[in-house]
Order: sequence, then structure tokens, then C-alpha cells
Amino acid sequence: MDLWSLQIPVPVALAFLAAMGYLISLWKRPATNDIAIRSRRELKRAQAVAAELEKIAWTVRQSLAKHHASVSRFKERVGRLGDRQQEAAWRELCREAEAILKPTMQLATQIANAYDEIRQQSANLMTFTEVRTDPLTGVNNRRGLDDALNAQLALMARYNAVFSVAMFDIDHFKQINDREGHLNGDRVLQKLSRLFEECIRETDFIARYGGEEFVIVMPQTDLDGGATFAERLRAAVEEKTDVTVSGGVAEAREGDGSESLIARSDTALYDAKTAGRNRVFIHTGEETRPAAAESPQEHAV
Ligand code: GH3
Ligand code: MG
Ligand code: MG
Repeated sequence: MDLWSLQIPVPVALAFLAAMGYLISLWKRPATNDIAIRSRRELKRAQAVAAELEKIAWTVRQSLAKHHASVSRFKERVGRLGDRQQEAAWRELCREAEAILKPTMQLATQIANAYDEIRQQSANLMTFTEVRTDPLTGVNNRRGLDDALNAQLALMARYNAVFSVAMFDIDHFKQINDREGHLNGDRVLQKLSRLFEECIRETDFIARYGGEEFVIVMPQTDLDGGATFAERLRAAVEEKTDVTVSGGVAEAREGDGSESLIARSDTALYDAKTAGRNRVFIHTGEETRPAAAESPQEHAV
């Protein structure tokens, strides 16, 4: 069907194409945790498209109502005509007018339906994001982390894709809360989340694992790379905030599930704490050891 030869208004045709393009892109997207990783960006995009479509759909519905009204007025006028022959001719004309309007009306209905579908998709994405987001810090929560880890483990099983995880825990956070109050403690958690988000790569994934623990999933990163990156993060926290963190890094191995992988990073983290805090330990699969040749000093809190 040639949209232009039907004399369909340009915004209507563009909106239809935009809606179809968006739906096709949703349909073509693989069902991996790509969605989890990009959900926020995706949500914004969906909301923008939905907002735009809402405006267009409103305009379309207005014109649709006007069309209906004018067709009825037209019919009514024809009905009032006295001359029988003339009435037959007008009725014929009326049928033709309706036939001309029909494709435009069908298209308008399609756009209204596409808009409803987009609004539904947008609501789904919003729910999807909400249930995976930690309300205090805005980073992913444990549920989001589970999805990300499972997706990475599936990629490893299928394509041998390496990846590592780093677990961080704030040092002596209880004392900070006790001394400065819980609200200030919350602010520290928020500040730390922003700093982590700034430092990680676009493809990395960050989640708040527990109270003052964070996990970073690093795709395409082996143990050495993970150690270097975790050490850089630790140093950034030391330099830019009033707290320090300890970290534990582990690389995913064959046969790992999310629990065993997290457990290794947790063991490394525990050893970093025992060794004096404000440092990163790695888990090689057999043992733990410091990530950096020389470990930094623990700060007094
Ligand atoms: P360590 O160096 O061994 O990690 O010491 P720590 O004091 O950080 O560890 P501990 O596990 O004893 O305490 C963790 C504290 O984190 C307990 C609690 O006061 C604090 N915490 C947990 N969740 C939150 C939160 O949502 N907000 C605030 N402000 N504090 C929290
Ligand atoms: Mg802790
Ligand atoms: Mg702690």
C-alpha cells in the first residue's frame, strides 16, 4: 500500500513507521540479560517514544472524531433532502466519501492500537526495572545481579566467554553509622554507588548485594584484569571519599554456578578484611592472595 498516494497526513504515517520500527526492534532483541544491563536506557527510550506517540495518538483520535462527526452531518443533510432522485445520488456520493475515508481511519486505528501496545511495553519495562533496582542507591539489586550472573554463566557455557566478579564491602561502616548517624551512612552508600558507576565500563554491571556490599560483574575480564580494575576502584574510593573499601575478586570457572562464584569472591573479601582492610584480594580457585604487590595501609576511622 502506498501511504503517500492515499494522502495520509505525514505525522500519521511517520508515527505508524516509528511504532512499527520500535516494535520490530523489541521483537528482534535477544532474550538475554542485555535487557537487564540496558533496561534503564531502554526504559527512557520507550518512555520518549510513548510520550511522542501519546501526542500523535491524541491528535489522530481528535481528527478521527471530527471525520465521524462530519460524515454523520453529511448523512443527516442528505437524509433531509426531499427530492428522491437527488437523494439516491447523494447516497451514492456519501458511500464514496466513506470509501475514501476508510483507509485513513483504518490506519488511524492501527496507530491507536500501536500506541496502546507501546504504552503496555513501557509499563512492563518500568516494572522490570523497578523490581531489579535498589531504591536507596539506584543501582541494581540482588535480583538484577542474579539475572546478570546467570546470563554471563550461560555465555560462558556456550561461547567460553570469560568474566570475573568483584565484591566490595565498606570498612568499619558500623562505626560510621554510629558516629555520624544512619542518614549520613545512607549518603555514603549513595555517593559510593555514583563513584562505582562512574568508574565501571559501559558493559560492566553493578549491584548492591547487601547492606554495604556491592558486586561488580565484569564481562570479558579474566582474574588479572579483574584484580587490576578492583584495585583501581579501591584506590578511587580512598582518594575521593571519606571511607575505604575492601574487595574480593574471582573469575568464573567451568562448573561454577552463581553461588560458588560469589562464594569465592566473598572468601577473598574476607581475607582482605583479615589482612587489614582497604585492600583487594583475589581467589585463584585454590587460594587467595593480595591483588597488589604492596598492600595499602588501613586508615583509622
Ligand atoms: P567491616 O570492616 O568488617 O566490614 O566492618 P563493618 O562495620 O562495615 O561491618 P558490619 O557487618 O559489622 O556492619 C555492617 C553495617 O552496615 C551494619 C549497619 O550499620 C550498616 N548498614 C547496612 N545496611 C545499611 C543501610 O542501608 N544504611 C546504612 N546507613 N547503614 C547500613
Ligand atoms: Mg558487610
Ligand atoms: Mg563492612
